[in-house]
Amino acid sequence: MRTIRTTLTPEEMPRRWYNILPDLPTPLPPPLNPATKEPISPSDLEAIFPKSLIAQEMSQDSYIDIPEEVLDAYMLVMRPSPLQRAVRLEEKLKTPAKIYYKREDLSPAGSHKTNTALAQAYYNKMEGVERLTTETGAGQWGSALSLACSYFDMKCRVFMVRASYDQKPYRREVMRLFGSEVFPSPSDQTDFGKSLLAKDKNHPGSLGIAISEALEACIKDDKAKYSLGSVLNHVMLHQTIIGQETMLQFQKLGEKPDYLVGCVGGGSNFAGFTFPFVGQKLKKKLETEFIAVEPTSVPTLTDGKYEYDFGDTAEMTPLLMMYTLGHAFVPSPIHAGGLRYHGAAPTVSALVNEGVVKPVSYQQQEVFEAAALFANQEGVIPAPETSHAIKAAIDLALEAKKNNEEKIIAFNFSGHGLLDLAGYQAYLDGTLT
Ligand SMILES: *Cc1c(COP(=O)(O)O)cnc(C)c1O
Repeated sequence: MRTIRTTLTPEEMPRRWYNILPDLPTPLPPPLNPATKEPISPSDLEAIFPKSLIAQEMSQDSYIDIPEEVLDAYMLVMRPSPLQRAVRLEEKLKTPAKIYYKREDLSPAGSHKTNTALAQAYYNKMEGVERLTTETGAGQWGSALSLACSYFDMKCRVFMVRASYDQKPYRREVMRLFGSEVFPSPSDQTDFGKSLLAKDKNHPGSLGIAISEALEACIKDDKAKYSLGSVLNHVMLHQTIIGQETMLQFQKLGEKPDYLVGCVGGGSNFAGFTFPFVGQKLKKKLETEFIAVEPTSVPTLTDGKYEYDFGDTAEMTPLLMMYTLGHAFVPSPIHAGGLRYHGAAPTVSALVNEGVVKPVSYQQQEVFEAAALFANQEGVIPAPETSHAIKAAIDLALEAKKNNEEKIIAFNFSGHGLLDLAGYQAYLDGTLT
């Protein structure tokens, strides 16, 4: 039998998260207070985040221990996850390259997002927080945080972009089943939501608007804190469990990847998968190339500006130095809902700016074609977000074929597409727009 799947035992699972901040080529530009343009102080964030997560956000420690309770919870979400080789895809493409994919779709919530959701719920619980507020676009983050709040016996209030709330009823029911309250955003729960509904009672909403609502709901509730599923340093940190496992798996295989590929919405699955390797490359111990993939219709890294911008639409967040399309950007309603964000994580942005990470973009149609090919060869239906990484990996494998090179390509399989069948329906019916 060929080595198609490389696994780790629970005992082999990494016990620490990797923090890239001290290894960055230049220090990360700090978040700024929008009024004074001065760097924000940790205490400015205490209204919305617990102290432990604020400390992680700014930590210069290279590694941070994963609490025992979170290690236990990682068992529930099927960690460590396998690294699988896409042999049937390689054969179909007739490429000499090896293609590997890291299985983050095996979490019961369907994506990598539980890696940080469980950690965030745990730290909030430890500091006496009773409820988390958050936003969700397509519903993957809302599902992951709802699972985590249910696991740690906390309440959860989710503001879901109205267009998705109406189009994706099943994600909504997942969240409700886990005990969360789910509101279509803009909602009548906040002043900001009410002001938008007064202008347009059928407002479709956006991720930036939902973030503003979740922040307002948190600030008005002293038992609540706010939770964000991507972008921030502590979220990237928690996701590095993915890349550290992958590193051990490549050691078992006795191979080094030439390319690591991931899709980028806010940047967390890409960061989690690549940062442990990026750290090695910055220390000149590896030559791997890092490819960040985004939709052509939301070209944050390939066509955005590297500047300070707000994380939300209502201008409530600190200013973050990042690639951005502008916080008023209204993304087109592509099926990869998780990639429809105007900005990208400051850490990922800095590495793009330094030329360490290379961004590419693809059109929706070619991404769905790649997803269909992958599903037929490997039997796994990818999320539309993940399919962006698949398209890029296939292109690298075809390039290797042209040059007759045995390249080793790995991508992060960030989530499954079993609750995204409306997108596949449109693809199969030929009505993708
Ligand atoms: C949320 C999500 C993404 C995009 O978010 P990142 O923070 O960029 O990882 C990608 N893939 C899946 C399956 C998601 O759920």
